[in-house]
Amino acid sequence: MPDDTFGYVKTRYDVLIVGGGHAGAQAAISLRQLKFHGSIAIIGDEPELPYERPPLSKDYLSREKTFDRILLRPASFWEERNVTLLTGREVDMVDPSDMKIIADDGSVIVYGTLIWAAGGRPRRLRCAGGDLEGVHSVRTRADVDRIQAELGDVEDVAVVGGGYIGLETAAVLTGLGKKVTVLEAQDRVLARVAGPVISRFYEAQHRAHGVDIRFGATVEAIEESGGRACGVRLSTGETIPCQMVIVGIGIAPSIDALISAGASYAYGNGVVVDEFCRTTMPDIYAVGDCALHNNPFADGAQIRLESVQNASDMAMTAAKAIVGMPEAYRSVPWFWSNQYDLRLQTVGLSRGYDEEVVRGDVSSRSFSVAYLKQGRIIALDCVNAAKDYVQGKRLIEAGVRVSARAVSDPANALRDIA
Ligand code: NAP
Repeated sequence: MPDDTFGYVKTRYDVLIVGGGHAGAQAAISLRQLKFHGSIAIIGDEPELPYERPPLSKDYLSREKTFDRILLRPASFWEERNVTLLTGREVDMVDPSDMKIIADDGSVIVYGTLIWAAGGRPRRLRCAGGDLEGVHSVRTRADVDRIQAELGDVEDVAVVGGGYIGLETAAVLTGLGKKVTVLEAQDRVLARVAGPVISRFYEAQHRAHGVDIRFGATVEAIEESGGRACGVRLSTGETIPCQMVIVGIGIAPSIDALISAGASYAYGNGVVVDEFCRTTMPDIYAVGDCALHNNPFADGAQIRLESVQNASDMAMTAAKAIVGMPEAYRSVPWFWSNQYDLRLQTVGLSRGYDEEVVRGDVSSRSFSVAYLKQGRIIALDCVNAAKDYVQGKRLIEAGVRVSARAVSDPANALRDIA
């Protein structure tokens, strides 16, 4: 079990952060930026220093970036700011009455304030063969290292799930010369995050690169040969032969210890926080992928957001509350995805839109889709259209009324449209 990266393990920290991903690391960074001088530790189950996750399904998978290049900060940064990194341990229990946690190595750590930034774990296939060798998730560095170690012997890859993970991975693996089949349960890719125009565009791009995409696909079993996955059997009886299966079917928030401690939560969907990222338990905050909050850009609906933006901004919100400068969380959501030579930038949340307006020529591979609700732009998907993304963000933040006709004409700069 790796020990405290920088020496002595204290048994009490003023702020203990659970989870060393974007949210956890940013919480520590924000506290120091806000001149918090108390002791801080980040405890996390991975053995590494905090690193960026988005490159895992992009340039880390393709080996265009080494691991050192995706570290969020170099080791010296944490030392200089006196942030202790307790790597390779998972928190099993939170005891709010004694304000302490117990980790899986038996260590007991008392906290003044706890920030829960544990993120989520990839959903697994619940079918025969779902745990076979050769079946992978893409969530951690270790996942991607395992994939890379096997890729030399792989020609055919079945990707289960046509979300961001599935499609980004499909694009990289296609670029590496693999024959990829994407198996998506719904009738279009990116169905959770984008409208039909974007879905059909990305479907066509992947097909043009030789990716086979199957919709309405239900995985019945992973078939085995010599202890390894050798095919994906669908409910239709068809088997997709492959030597590797990548599973990108979403995540389940990691909140068990908090729930057991008595925090309010929604079944299977995160721990409840208020606008300052406070859970329902004293001195315990939750930030990032696992935090269920009322989001102003979702008409106040209670949602979780799985994005770097949300992780970073919630971390700052919690840090401000902790140092006595509370400011409610009100950041416009944004996301991005790189596939082939396409950069998709999304701003806002399109749920509940009543009009989808295409701006520009889809066949030019540089266009945007605006999502309107009752005459206001609530979200934009911008494909190789950074200007629309930047200018549109302001429209969404301001919640201004627009004319669909004006939006549809790319000759009108979005900044002039309000
Ligand atoms: P995701 O975005 O939830 O997409 C998963 C897709 O797989 C959904 O369309 C889902 O359909 C489908 N699916 C679910 N079960 C299935 C099954 N048994 N067989 C076939 N398809 C199935 O999740 P993800 O792509 O795994 O991403 C995981 C996390 O990483 C998310 O937090 C994501 O935001 C994050 N991520 C973000 C980026 C980015 O922002 N660029 C890149 C990579 C990863 P249903 O909706 O019907 O379940």
